[in-house]
Formats: sequence, C-alpha cells, structure tokens
Amino acid sequence: QTKSEGRNSYQFYSIEMHARAVYGQMLESHLLQALERGELDLHYQPQVSLSGQEVVGVEALMRWTSPALGKVPPDKFIPLAEESELILRLGEWALRTACRQAKAWQEAGLEGLRMAVNVSGRQFRQPGFAELVSGILAETGLAPRCLEIELTESCLVDNPREVQTILHRLRYLGIQVAVDDFGTGYSSLSYLKLFPLDRIKIDRSFVRDIDNDPDDAAIASAIIAMAHSLGMQVIAEGVETQSQLDFLGGRGCEEVQGFLYSRPLPAAELTGFLHDRRPQACGEARRAG
Ligand code: C2E
Ligand code: MG
Ligand code: MG
Ligand code: MG
Repeated sequence: QTKSEGRNSYQFYSIEMHARAVYGQMLESHLLQALERGELDLHYQPQVSLSGQEVVGVEALMRWTSPALGKVPPDKFIPLAEESELILRLGEWALRTACRQAKAWQEAGLEGLRMAVNVSGRQFRQPGFAELVSGILAETGLAPRCLEIELTESCLVDNPREVQTILHRLRYLGIQVAVDDFGTGYSSLSYLKLFPLDRIKIDRSFVRDIDNDPDDAAIASAIIAMAHSLGMQVIAEGVETQSQLDFLGGRGCEEVQGFLYSRPLPAAELTGFLHDRRPQACGEARRAG
C-alpha cells in the first residue's frame, strides 16, 4: 500500500465518520420532539404456543416515522435514546400504550392475552421503576400477570444485587419477566439462578441457521434444556420456517415468535389474526427465587 492510498482511505473514513456524526445529531434533535408530535407508534408481533398453535401473547415494538427522516428503525433510535434520560420517557410511553392496548384487546374478547414490553437497562434501574409499572397497571386495569417485561442479558449482569431487588419487586406485583436476546450477552450463566425469571427468549441469531448449523442447533437445544431445568419457559424469536418450528418443538420449546406467523403489525391489523388464534389463558411459568 502506497502512502497516497493510505491518505485517501483515511480521508474517506473521516468523511464517513463525519456523516455518521451529523446523522446522529439530526436523529437526536428530531427524536426529542417525536413523542410530543405523535410520531411514535407501537407495532405488535404475536407469540404463539407450540402446544396449541394459539396466540398467548404479543410483543410491543416501537416504531418511529419522522416527517423529516422517514421510518427510523428502533435499532438506530433506541440506542440513541438510551444515551440520555429520553429513554425513560419513551419507555414509559411504550409501557402505558402497550398496557392500554392489551386491556382493549382483552375487553374485546381476547381474555388473558399477555403483553410483552421491552425495557432498557437504564429504565429498569430508574428509581421507582416497580412503582411506575404498578401505577400504569392500576391506571389501565391490566392484570399484572398479563404484563411481561423483556430485559436483555447485559442489563441483568451489570449490578446483580440491585437487579435482584427490582426483580423481586416485580415478582411480588405478579408481573412476568423474560430475558431477551438470550445467548448473545457473553455473560456467566450463574446469575440465572439468582433471579426470579419466567421465560428465556432464544436470540434470533441461533434460530436462523438452526437447520444446517450443528453449533446453532446444539446451542438452542442446550438453552432449552437449561431453562427447563431451572423452571423457566422458552420462547424462540425470529422463527421464519416450518423446519425451524419443527426443530424447536421437538426440543420442547414452548412458544415461538417470528415472520412464519406474522410480522409486527399495527394493533388494528393484528386484531383479526388474534381472534382466529384465540388464547385460553395467560401463559405462565413460575419459579421460586
Ligand atoms: P427485540 O426485542 O429482540 O425484538 C425482536 C426483533 O426481531 C424486532 O425487530 C422484530 O421485528 C424482529 N423480528 C421478529 N421476528 C422476526 C423474524 O422472523 N425474522 C427477522 N429477521 N426478524 C424478526 P425491531 O422491531 O426492529 O426491534 C429491534 C430492537 O429494538 C428490539 O429487539 C429491541 O431491542 C428494541 N426495541 C424495540 N422496541 C423497543 C421498546 O419499546 N423499548 C426498548 N427499550 N427497546 C425496543
Ligand atoms: Mg424484545
Ligand atoms: Mg429479542
Ligand atoms: Mg434482538
């Protein structure tokens, strides 16, 4: 490599870095107003039980359509919001909106439908989080056992004692807790037994090649076996094909979520599907802890 090539590639890199920084600032300034201007929305993706092929729950996923920037994916704006207190406001909005929607669906005949809401580490650790959640449940009239909070592995390992206290408060209230993106956190497994957890979500990256990558198949099988021996249920995310479904079902995975059944959709577009695959009762997995 010549000197001039080196300089050129450095220049290219710095322009790209600059563009990225400008885009980041633009996102941030628009995101600040997105909530007030009603640009945020929740889509919902069904969670289907393998035993009865019925919808037992839905996961709420945030969507942002900015008039200036178009559709911005959550993978872009959530990490940005997490850098400041903004995530607390977005998170509270998502919890309230999702609980309200769950209650509306239940009143329309979908009794026992579970609502899963993603919660960031920063939000989970904010003082009074459990009180905030119980306030929202009281306000919306949703039964606590029908709310599930999804936390990522990394959020659990940061400060295990603090996490344990908060999780026990949530358990006391009757709220369910799932570990999202499980297997990607590069963390020790020993913390799992410390925490009162209801469900583990196998990360999409292990499900994708489950049919032809023996390593992924082994990891998924091990996660299912481990969760069961600790008294937890398992849900697999990113299930797109029948053969992935068959594999997971054969290993005793209780629930799946993925494009095979439905993409995340606006509430109104999902209602028909939910009624067609009506749930019997809240999927509950309880363990002491
Ligand atoms: P997540 O919680 O792990 O959500 C699952 C993601 O996988 C969603 O992406 C969903 O659309 C996608 N997905 C579901 N099924 C399939 C499938 O069969 N194939 C493929 N290829 N993808 C599938 P999405 O909606 O873009 O959300 C990305 C992430 O953003 C979420 O990952 C979550 O970490 C975060 N997020 C979304 N909404 C919220 C929220 O309200 N609060 C917080 N804190 N984070 C959120
Ligand atoms: Mg999730
Ligand atoms: Mg996930
Ligand atoms: Mg994910």
